[in-house]
Amino acid sequence: MSDDLTLLRAVDITDAQDLPAGGFSAWLRRTRSDLSEQKGADVPCGECNACCHSSYFIHIGPDETQTLALIPEELLFAAPGQAEGVVLLGYGEDGQCPMLVDERCSIYEHRPQTCRNYDCRIFPAAGIAAAEDDKALITQRTRRWKFSYPSADDRTEHAAVQAAARFLQERAEYVADEVPNNAIQLAILAIKVSGVFLQIHEAHEKSGTAPSDLDVGRRIAKAMAEMAGSVVAAE
Ligand code: SF4
Repeated sequence: MSDDLTLLRAVDITDAQDLPAGGFSAWLRRTRSDLSEQKGADVPCGECNACCHSSYFIHIGPDETQTLALIPEELLFAAPGQAEGVVLLGYGEDGQCPMLVDERCSIYEHRPQTCRNYDCRIFPAAGIAAAEDDKALITQRTRRWKFSYPSADDRTEHAAVQAAARFLQERAEYVADEVPNNAIQLAILAIKVSGVFLQIHEAHEKSGTAPSDLDVGRRIAKAMAEMAGSVVAAE
């Protein structure tokens, strides 16, 4: 395993027009809890609606009945590879969600859970871009978020998330489980398994030892299996 992943360093990808993203460790704890409980993220979006302009397919579950009642049927289609009843809301040629009217979500009070869960701070947290060209507005926004670091632990935890994202991007072959190549899913996975890199960092600080990439991959796969198990247990 390289020093790059053992000695944790957070990479700053923000630009001059900073937006306060909050203290990193507090944000991380809240985000992990929001992700596991699917309770929606509390994001200070202000006037920004970049995600509604960014060519996203929005997943909507069959239990989101109030949302589904407000969206014309012709805008929805079955989501490939998903559970029965899950549908997708598409976007127009300009990448805009059809429910965005006069720059406002026309179904805001009953917007899909996917929209409620979306927090573009996951990208600067993981140190990765929102990716594709059609996400340029989100990329601009994410460059402005600026996390704060009230303690040394905040910096270490941020660096651990970024180390996890780098490992998942560069060494996916060592993880005996499917690693997503979609930027959102990759950033979320890095947030979920970053504890592995914190443990590695602590062990390295104490003894100077570093595990092999194979061992790191195994630990990540184990963390992923444990998360999947806790989801099954909660269902
Ligand atoms: S449903 Fe509303 S919040 Fe979701 S992408 Fe469309 S306009 Fe934006």
